[in-house]
Amino acid sequence: GKVLVTGANGYVAVWIVKKLLEEGFSVRGTVRSESKAPYLKNLFASYGDKLEFVVVSDITKDGAFDEAVKGVDAIQHTASPFHLNGSHPDDMVVPAVAGTQSILQSTLKHGTNVKRVVLTSSCAAVEELHDDPRVFTEEMWNKQSIDEIEQKGSKSSPSHWYRASKTLAEKAAWDFVKDHKSEISWDLVAMNPPYVYGPVLQELDGVASLNLSMWLWYKYVLKGGADLKELVTVGGNGVDVRDCANAHVRSMTVEEAGGHRILTSGGVYRWQDWVNAARKIQPDLPEGDTSFDSASIVHPIVFHTDKFEKILGLKYHTKEETSHAILENFKERGLWD
Ligand code: NDP
Repeated sequence: GKVLVTGANGYVAVWIVKKLLEEGFSVRGTVRSESKAPYLKNLFASYGDKLEFVVVSDITKDGAFDEAVKGVDAIQHTASPFHLNGSHPDDMVVPAVAGTQSILQSTLKHGTNVKRVVLTSSCAAVEELHDDPRVFTEEMWNKQSIDEIEQKGSKSSPSHWYRASKTLAEKAAWDFVKDHKSEISWDLVAMNPPYVYGPVLQELDGVASLNLSMWLWYKYVLKGGADLKELVTVGGNGVDVRDCANAHVRSMTVEEAGGHRILTSGGVYRWQDWVNAARKIQPDLPEGDTSFDSASIVHPIVFHTDKFEKILGLKYHTKEETSHAILENFKERGLWD
């Protein structure tokens, strides 16, 4: 079968492309400009013609994906802004929502072979930020960020712009499926990962060009953060990029996954937990706060993540395993020595 992967040059997407090729699929990747393809062609040179690229310069345009969806059996839609460089909520919300609607519209019209669409959503479409600890499940939606941007516009926090963009894009996808139920022959799966960490395969121009999540890992674990206090106060949920990519591929091949939202968290952390994991492999890394007692931390956000094992049949990497792979990878790529 052939799979369309949008934003194929991104951190998560390159891993999805790799898994798909390893499993024998042909891949058509979309990139925003021609210049982003040669590096990937070279990275996956051993797969020859099984990997091809098409340029979709503006994913928000009507019909942008009309050609790209022709002849593919499934779609992995990952392209969406994940950075904090915007100046207005729409800088995130418009590409996320219009990009999702545009690919689904093209699929409706021209994706006659498509059986399943996997949307890279985020745990940001599920969780709301609160001080009191809560367990979030796939039934829950982040309304908080939508309210924030509606009420405060560009005065709201950029992290809510991103969170709202993911929530509104995922909602738009489920709405599309509902509205076109009788006309479509495919179903939808939404992947809801938290922060993704792990080795980087994408093209880079030094550490400054790392994708946001791995830039944070680099900053906190290899550089010790901005100050010591952050290492024990800042945290969240994380998942290994290989687990995240595997989950995307399984979500496409496992029949039962159709129609599900799937939270995929490998666990909670404060940055000091990653420092401790990485220092088991590389003892000369900055030690951070040695008085940190991980077991005493009550994490405000915990996810219900059963579907990863029960539906997709996968097992999470540990922080030690992820750290090990990152350190090897950063050395190989000359990002750190
Ligand atoms: P990257 O920044 O590495 O990749 C983002 C991809 O989306 C790139 O291909 C990028 O293209 C494309 N893209 C970004 N903005 C636009 C736009 N306005 N129009 C068209 N294409 C665009 O990020 P990740 O790999 O980390 O993210 C991939 C997906 O995973 C996103 O949907 C993100 O929300 C989601 N996600 C990521 C998490 C993480 O921690 N990394 C956590 C949860 C979800 P270009 O290179 O041309 O800019």
